[in-house]
Amino acid sequence: AGLMRLDKFVCKSTRLDRQQAALVIAAGDVTVNGNTIVDANIQVHESNCIKLEGARLVLRPFRYLLFNKPIDTLCSNVDGDYPSIFNLIDVPNPHELHIAGRLDADTTGLVLITDDGRWSFNVFNPKYQCQKVYRVTLRDSIEGERSGELDRQLMIRFKQGLALPGEAKPTLPAKLQYVSEHEVLLTISEGRYHQVKRMFALVGNRVNALHRERVGEIQCDVACGTWRYLSAEEVQGFG
Ligand code: URA
Repeated sequence: AGLMRLDKFVCKSTRLDRQQAALVIAAGDVTVNGNTIVDANIQVHESNCIKLEGARLVLRPFRYLLFNKPIDTLCSNVDGDYPSIFNLIDVPNPHELHIAGRLDADTTGLVLITDDGRWSFNVFNPKYQCQKVYRVTLRDSIEGERSGELDRQLMIRFKQGLALPGEAKPTLPAKLQYVSEHEVLLTISEGRYHQVKRMFALVGNRVNALHRERVGEIQCDVACGTWRYLSAEEVQGFG
């Protein structure tokens, strides 16, 4: 850690993109500990004294954002069948950012975005079993014997774990909370491919709408299509 390519260091400490960084390096404008370096590929350490035209460069601190994803957008850095969420995130150098824990195009809600690879690795590292809460709208009623209550069998199956087709291990215990006849809050502590949709498909239901409300202690508390920076506490929660 702390090591990176010289051109990356220049990008992360200026407004230059990778190509522009390579150009100023090749032109001899960059020094590392007093020596002019024209090779953009060399590894430098963040503690090195790196100067551009004589001025010391300082790395920007990492950025951490939460975004409330609208429907029909892609958790990708580039547009595809739908526009990328980055069209709605007006920050400098968005190409430096990546999405920690993607949502499907038709899923809405909380998405975490950062340029700190170690942090995003932790957030969705199965080892830490961070809780994710989804608001799920279902095709079929999930009411049990008595109206206004969740079907107990369903609750037990989700708690015990479901054997998803083609997967060696059952899902970890999941919690279901009744909201209304066709709506539940589901808490899971892993993030397998299309997990929520596949869990409900397995019990013969169908997810009609899916919204992520919370990841760990971080709540989706901004309007749809908008974002904010995380607080220091929110970031440290995943240290
Ligand atoms: N589970 C899904 O099926 N889709 C998502 O986008 C997130 C969780």
